[in-house]
Amino acid sequence: MNLNDIEKLGVPDQVLSVVPQVEQRTGIPIEFREIDEAAKSKLGQFAKAEAVLDIDAQYQTIRVWIAPECRRAHAITHELLHLKRDVLEGSPRWFPSVDAPVGSEALVFSLQTELDHLYVIPEEIALHPEAQGWWDNHYEETIGRAAERQDHFAIAMHWALLRTTMPESNRAMLACAERVRTLPSAWLRVINNYQCDVRDALHDPMALMAHQIAFVRQAYPDDAQYFMRGKYISEGGRLGVKCL
Ligand SMILES: [Zn+2]
Repeated sequence: MNLNDIEKLGVPDQVLSVVPQVEQRTGIPIEFREIDEAAKSKLGQFAKAEAVLDIDAQYQTIRVWIAPECRRAHAITHELLHLKRDVLEGSPRWFPSVDAPVGSEALVFSLQTELDHLYVIPEEIALHPEAQGWWDNHYEETIGRAAERQDHFAIAMHWALLRTTMPESNRAMLACAERVRTLPSAWLRVINNYQCDVRDALHDPMALMAHQIAFVRQAYPDDAQYFMRGKYISEGGRLGVKCL
């Protein structure tokens, strides 16, 4: 798969232009690859995704992994918007510390995905209105599954995302609100407060990250130590990571 194939799917030019800009700045050729069995073991928690952005500053590689059945333009746009935020805009983000155990690392990636999605999903829907239905289904399923396993932390995270990224979405909102209302009242308060904190801090990612880590400390106090704030930098034709 190459940039021509991606273009044929209907990814807008302004999104495609992220690819040469990132290549020029980092000196790294961006690879578009199909998710195969070997890739699945490497991608871990993301193996079932339709598309995954995989940036590796240590080995100087940037790959967009795409599931063989994925032919939806908005899924590719989504990954390239992540790439834009990470490399072109150098947005603050979470990295797991080098000593993070696997479970804590997964938590760091979840919070990082939440942080990025607060900005990426509205941009994706603005470019591809059909993506709204896909995200409606996604939130409904994800919050439904989290409610079944009584995972209040995951419910709070996805509820804040849903309310912030799709304020006009009725279907997922109604279905999820029903789930959220059945939670113990102490958690309901925590979830509502977290959602307001996230919404109010959208203009300031560092403040938003402070709310996220406070929330992690509350739910998973032992894992907070493995969260590192940083950003990607591209200097001298190389991609690096700077701690913040
Ligand atoms: Zn994403």
